[in-house]
Amino acid sequence: MNLDVDPKLQEFREEVRSFFAKDYPKDILAKVAAGASLTTPEVRKAEMALGAKGWLASAWPKEHGGPGWGIEEQYIFDEELERAGAPTVTPMGVVYVGPVVYTFGTEEQQAQWLPGIADGSVGWAQGYSEPEAGSDLASLQFSAVRDGDEYVLNGTKIWTSAANHADWIFLLTRTSQEAKKQMGITFICAELDQPGVTVKPIISIDGKYHLSQCDFEDVRVPVTNRIGEEGKGWTYSQYLLGNERTSYARIGGKRSQLANIRAIASEIPTGGNQRLIEDITFASRLSAAEIKVDALEITTLRVLCSVKDGGSPGNEASILKIMATELAQEITGLFVVAAAEHGMRKFGDSVSPEWTGQSAFAAPGVASYLGARAQSIYGGTNEIQRNIIAKRVLGL
Ligand SMILES: Cc1cc2nc3c(=O)[nH]c(=O)nc-3n(C[C@H](O)[C@H](O)[C@H](O)COP(=O)(O)OP(=O)(O)OC[C@H]3O[C@@H](n4cnc5c(N)ncnc54)[C@H](O)[C@@H]3O)c2cc1C
Repeated sequence: MNLDVDPKLQEFREEVRSFFAKDYPKDILAKVAAGASLTTPEVRKAEMALGAKGWLASAWPKEHGGPGWGIEEQYIFDEELERAGAPTVTPMGVVYVGPVVYTFGTEEQQAQWLPGIADGSVGWAQGYSEPEAGSDLASLQFSAVRDGDEYVLNGTKIWTSAANHADWIFLLTRTSQEAKKQMGITFICAELDQPGVTVKPIISIDGKYHLSQCDFEDVRVPVTNRIGEEGKGWTYSQYLLGNERTSYARIGGKRSQLANIRAIASEIPTGGNQRLIEDITFASRLSAAEIKVDALEITTLRVLCSVKDGGSPGNEASILKIMATELAQEITGLFVVAAAEHGMRKFGDSVSPEWTGQSAFAAPGVASYLGARAQSIYGGTNEIQRNIIAKRVLGL
């Protein structure tokens, strides 16, 4: 898609590009380029830099603290953020819970939570999955028992991304065992830093700490932390998942990764005078991936353009989720091929300054290859997305 034919959009792109080149924190860009994990203060700093411009909650309407951009501006903004190598915005606040709060929350809840999400000063985590409830999410058992003006929370959430950087968590809780299992679920928000909450690290296959197990023991939260009606949490959770699954597209990032791979492959010799880019198998995999990015872009825009005001992409978001995540896995696989034997180097948290050439990109490349395996699991596994497409999109 060529958004640059419109001079207004071209001007907008230049404004965003110049912001990332001149005003965005350089230390954050350098750390991301080295494949290192950001600390909590660095995550806040990165997000507050966007928040200060009013650009963090890029898809929100103006009245709730967003920039009020159309699809085109949001798209250009994401492309430029990814092109600049800035860290992906933590989605749990701005993409996931924020729209739930302004769509289903009370005015008091909007005043309490939206400003901190939009300015990047408050981090959120998503408490859906449990040790015995992943794909079959509706069977969750994390309990919320009403006691006067409070709920008492007990249970465990697992695989909670970014809980180590979060101040708040939104939880799917069970408030009734009586009803059909989807009907007994309630959407409740809780602060993480309070007695009875324990956040335990889980180190993932890429060697990083971004996942946690969150245990709640007799944690009391006010009833006013409940979003919407008791027993209606499933409805809000599905609205949220539509936004979540669409957010995986990350077209700009995929394009810059592919350009990077093409550049690297044009340098790397594979024996004799041949460069990796001249290897027919590699070159066709690379070209196929580039074509798939175009297909993903068009499909993403079709889904986004079909969303009505205040709505979220429905079951069609499952198509995007599969396309985007399988493509991310393929692209990171190309990095590993380019890394060749350098991929055997221990992948750590960051690139060591003495590593040059192939070994400099191999370590973060292998870590991101391993990390990308999880993309077809989180947000609902790709098998579950295929079930959704079969049943709810194709009506089979
Ligand atoms: C890196 C990462 C980050 C995550 N972040 C979060 C987070 O922030 N918050 C959160 O709440 N959760 C998070 N998750 C959890 C994630 O949503 C679950 O792992 C996922 O929904 C799968 O659940 P499960 O792990 O219990 O696997 P299971 O549900 O036990 O599935 C095991 C296997 O069986 C298959 N399967 C199960 N049921 C069916 C079926 N009906 N038809 C076909 N195949 C089926 C699955 O596809 C899978 O291959 C994260 C997970 C990962 C890996």
